[in-house]
Amino acid sequence: MLSYDEAIKLVLKNITPLPAIEKPLEDAGGLVLAETVSARWDLPTADNSAMDGFALHYESLPASRRLPVTGHTYAGHPFAGTIPAGAALRIMTGAPIPAGCDTVVPLEDVSEDAETICLNRELVRGQHVRHAGDEFRNGDLLLAAGTCLWAGEIGLLAAAGISRVRVHPAPRVAILSTGDELVELGEQPGPGQIINSNLHLLTARLREAGAEVIPLGIARDDIDDLDHRLQSGLQADLLLTSGGVSVGDKDQVQDAFIRLGFEKIFWKVAIKPGKPVLFGKIGNKPIFGLPGNPAASAATCEIFTIPALRRLAGHPDPLPPLLSAKLSRQVEGGGKRQAFLWGELQRKGNGYLFHPSIRQGSGQNRSLQGSCALLPIAAGAPDLEAGTRVEVLLMRLPRGRSYTE
Ligand code: AMP
Ligand code: MG
Repeated sequence: MLSYDEAIKLVLKNITPLPAIEKPLEDAGGLVLAETVSARWDLPTADNSAMDGFALHYESLPASRRLPVTGHTYAGHPFAGTIPAGAALRIMTGAPIPAGCDTVVPLEDVSEDAETICLNRELVRGQHVRHAGDEFRNGDLLLAAGTCLWAGEIGLLAAAGISRVRVHPAPRVAILSTGDELVELGEQPGPGQIINSNLHLLTARLREAGAEVIPLGIARDDIDDLDHRLQSGLQADLLLTSGGVSVGDKDQVQDAFIRLGFEKIFWKVAIKPGKPVLFGKIGNKPIFGLPGNPAASAATCEIFTIPALRRLAGHPDPLPPLLSAKLSRQVEGGGKRQAFLWGELQRKGNGYLFHPSIRQGSGQNRSLQGSCALLPIAAGAPDLEAGTRVEVLLMRLPRGRSYTE
């Protein structure tokens, strides 16, 4: 059976980023840039003051260190004239440095009377001046293709006057739940029925990871219903099903995929939970058949579908971030398949403690409760003692509260 490492390589190898589209900058947060962006002007455009204070010409400072103040200038109100040698101009942060000046003395470093100031401190030529082009010059590279646009990048592009950008769009993920036993949230489950909770779990997680989700409802364990609903999922960028991919009598999802032209890339990976996971393509479209058990569905979404989503979205490194942590308690090794344990991180000293969840059962909704990371444990690994340093796959930031068992 394929290992996780082999399987994730196959997933990433078979997916390319979605074609770029142009977006207004205000809609581009969290998306990945598909072009190189260069500056179209200098920033700052002119020398300006970094402090509230007085602008003067350093070389013309009188020995008395007392200067007449010849006027004022504020941000947005440039001073038109030239400041005579030996005089000062009252200047506020962000106002252009007037002609004849090269240095700013902060308000705190002078004593003022009616029309003069007296300097109380040593000063350095050019102090508190932000020079034209200090941040970037016309033509400088601002951001490379492949950069994710977080707040800092959005602010930089806005400051540079870039109002539209070419980005990879947020991938659209269609989710089909399968099973005769499922009812939608809001309905009262009858005997033998359960709520279609995977839809909600997967939708929430995929949205957190940047997807637009298209729910396709519930397909009954019936070939015609599966065919019909899967067809409508092909409009999405990625199609995902939950349930029906194992070896049970009613597990018909793979057959339904095949009728739509499915090219199987793998079925079954040596992992726990999530062994029956199915991956392939219909045309160029990635297709995941995730297992139905909630914790298996969630784990395979995390370790396969979210990297696939990030690759579609153009992230150069789509794999989950790793965080080093210490184990809070002993965990058993020795499994036949690579295990992924759900757990919570707690800040401890300069690092983190990883608390594996007490419940890890693939059928248990509560395995994931409070979890923000997954601990991979290699097949056949020895037991890991409390305090062992491990690398966990980070799903989201820890909650920042103390952990209580
Ligand atoms: P399956 O892989 O279809 O045999 O399903 C395995 C287990 O997961 C069964 O106990 C199903 O009832 C359960 N299951 C399947 N789909 C869902 C779903 N959408 N939400 C919650 N549980 C599910
Ligand atoms: Mg089923």
